[in-house]
Amino acid sequence: MLRTNTCGELNLTHIGNKVTLAGWVQKTRNKGFMIWVDLRDRYGVTQIIFDEERTDKVMLEKAQSLGREFVIQVQGTVIERVSKNPNLSTGDVEILAESFDVLNPSKTPPFTIESETDGGEELRMQYRYLDIRRKPVRENLIFRSKVSLAIRNYLSAHNFIDVETPYLIKSTPEGARDFVVPSRMNAGEFYALPQSPQTFKQLLMVGGMDQYFQIVKCFRDEDLRADRQPEFTQIDCEMTFVEQEDILTRFEGLLKHLLKEIKGVEVFEFPRMTYVEAIQKYGNDKPDIRFGMEFAELNEFAKGKGFPVFDQQELIVGIAVPGAASYTRKQIDKLIDWVKRPQIGANGLIWVKCNEDGSYKSSVDKFYSQEDLTNWAKQTQASAGDLVLIMAGETNKTRGQLSALRMELAEQLGLRDPETFAPLWVVDFPLLEWDKESKRYHAMHHPFTAPKPEQMSLLATDPGAVNANAYDLVLNGNEIGGGSIRIHDAKVQETMFDLLGFTKEEAQAQFGFLMEAFQYGAPPHGGIALGLDRLVSILGGQETIRDFIAFPKNNRGRDLMIDAPASIDSTQLEELNLVLKQKK
Ligand code: ASP
Repeated sequence: MLRTNTCGELNLTHIGNKVTLAGWVQKTRNKGFMIWVDLRDRYGVTQIIFDEERTDKVMLEKAQSLGREFVIQVQGTVIERVSKNPNLSTGDVEILAESFDVLNPSKTPPFTIESETDGGEELRMQYRYLDIRRKPVRENLIFRSKVSLAIRNYLSAHNFIDVETPYLIKSTPEGARDFVVPSRMNAGEFYALPQSPQTFKQLLMVGGMDQYFQIVKCFRDEDLRADRQPEFTQIDCEMTFVEQEDILTRFEGLLKHLLKEIKGVEVFEFPRMTYVEAIQKYGNDKPDIRFGMEFAELNEFAKGKGFPVFDQQELIVGIAVPGAASYTRKQIDKLIDWVKRPQIGANGLIWVKCNEDGSYKSSVDKFYSQEDLTNWAKQTQASAGDLVLIMAGETNKTRGQLSALRMELAEQLGLRDPETFAPLWVVDFPLLEWDKESKRYHAMHHPFTAPKPEQMSLLATDPGAVNANAYDLVLNGNEIGGGSIRIHDAKVQETMFDLLGFTKEEAQAQFGFLMEAFQYGAPPHGGIALGLDRLVSILGGQETIRDFIAFPKNNRGRDLMIDAPASIDSTQLEELNLVLKQKK
């Protein structure tokens, strides 16, 4: 080894020890007759001291030329520091250098390699290996490794087997575009990179593997909304001979295990909410339930009172904002401007202040009596001191807008505490979704999801009304996982493809292998996949998944470090049969 100790472990118990450390020069302070060097490695920072009096003059001179990020090896003695640094685990000691070697010099880094850096996001991505030397990034990667290990431990302890599935496959539809790979040996044909290992994990169940998991890369060619990556990691799982409830219990257990192991937090409550309820109460299917502000529908209490704006609308819906009755006109106007921005697109807000004396003041006092306002307050569960905010319009749109406002207010009011964890299951999703543009059904989860058994007959008569045995795991307003009980009957699978607009031939060409497998004793099975990147970032108390990925891509899908994607030369294109061969 090039070292006896790491830069993170020496303390007062090591005083007098002769040690060898190796690492990067984070910082030097040069007083001429004395030089201090902060030496860094993955484990921490240790101060090295070069001193004219106590050590060698020649060495001191040599040390003058040490620059930031030089890699050095130092021999010396551990001594007690005169001025201690309580912020460092090694802050009580320093190493009195006796000799050192420069193992490799460094160019001056393009940004400072410290916890607080002056480097912009793009620059740090370009030099990601330097960014990884910074403590926050390094700690995030170590944190991710810990979470992965805890996941493996839990799943292994419950009999899940880690099986690798191929990356060069045929399309598995999860609702995004495929990344395709041209095949050199099969002219004109292409592999698709998996959007998920969905069909393979089902085939593993047909193969009798019983319980499978894999921490696996998936690839989806989507227009990148903020904080999405074209390749991302899933904890992909499948179980045989289970019902929905078995899966919920097992994976509720996984999340509880992680929260306890990683955060030291015990979560007891794990509510279940139907899709319909989530949409009605929170305006979206991944509600943040760390705080209240549940929706109250006010049609019954607000229509027919001569206020034309409300009378014309499909839905009138409100929330009570805790403690916000004291908002000034200006503060309320700001909220109104916020919902009118094109990103939200609302027409405005109606407000009611619930005064401490039990009276109400609203923006529609002309049309509504105190009794009406009392009803609204009651419905939204507003108390004295709260502010009721109301929106009206087309049902789905209005729910979406109020949901956005609810989240914004929670943010402003500090109700989205990253150290509070509020998981829940959203269940009973519709099986199909009608797409107005293509005038056909889409699978809400994916085409392999089973209808509720008791609704099977509805498939033929009213497919849009059928619910699925599908579920999402939601944590703090994020969907962190989703899955379903699968179809395991070839006939039902055929019907499903038919409903989704596949011709028999298309279904056969794309998924013949699966329907065939279902004819060889496919057991009932179901599963789930959790997004590891998102899960880790929530557990880590941060918003962006990029911070927890070693080599992320930017929001144009580019890797700025290796500069990918890139063009390939004409010979390669020819080999891949992507262009006609040039006559030589
Ligand atoms: N394959 C699904 C997905 O990637 C998850 C599942 O149904 O297990 O979302």
